[in-house]
Amino acid sequence: MSTILIVEDEERIASFVEKGLRSAGHQTVVARDGATGLAIAEAGACDLVVLDIGLPGMDGWEVLERLRGSGSTLPVIMLTARDSVHDTVTGLESGANDYVTKPFQFAELLARIRLRLREEQGPSAQAPHRIEVTDVVLDLRTRRVEVAGAEVSLTAREFTLLQVLMEHPGQVLSREQLLGQVWDTDFDPRSNVVDVFVRTLRRKIGADRIETVRGMGYRFVRE
Ligand code: CA
Repeated sequence: MSTILIVEDEERIASFVEKGLRSAGHQTVVARDGATGLAIAEAGACDLVVLDIGLPGMDGWEVLERLRGSGSTLPVIMLTARDSVHDTVTGLESGANDYVTKPFQFAELLARIRLRLREEQGPSAQAPHRIEVTDVVLDLRTRRVEVAGAEVSLTAREFTLLQVLMEHPGQVLSREQLLGQVWDTDFDPRSNVVDVFVRTLRRKIGADRIETVRGMGYRFVRE
């Protein structure tokens, strides 16, 4: 999960971007002015910055200039209301990674954010699009699951649960850990939702692949 800093003084736009990013699974921080945004970015408290140009006090250009001046390589996507070649060129020259022109579709911004985050992670992080343990294969891009060569259909939540289990093969994960990673962290820990989903997963991928460790949790079987 990545934390995205949104530097935007317009409440409406900031909350629209924030809501969208949260439902796409990102954490968000909003700064309403340039100086605050710069401080958060420099403190290393985010993975990417969505930076508006028109801000009170220090504007977006200055924030970008100072951020790059301090040696930061954080990916920055500028929001510009002015659809001009000049702004774009200036922005890219002064170290913006990308820009989106207002008004924009959220999907367009999200696509650019995802692209920049992937680039940031570098080629080694681009590789694990697949998780494979025994004969269970998860394709993280297409969200397809194959068990012993046959495709199995899972809901989004089941897929995430299976992914978390398979990222730690042979390791016991407690209900609390699974709740935190697959559901909201503030989900009632007494809830039996994990058990219900594990039961469904077992039915779909084979009961013996997920082991119950009494009093501790669940483990994806490695051999
Ligand atoms: Ca603005």
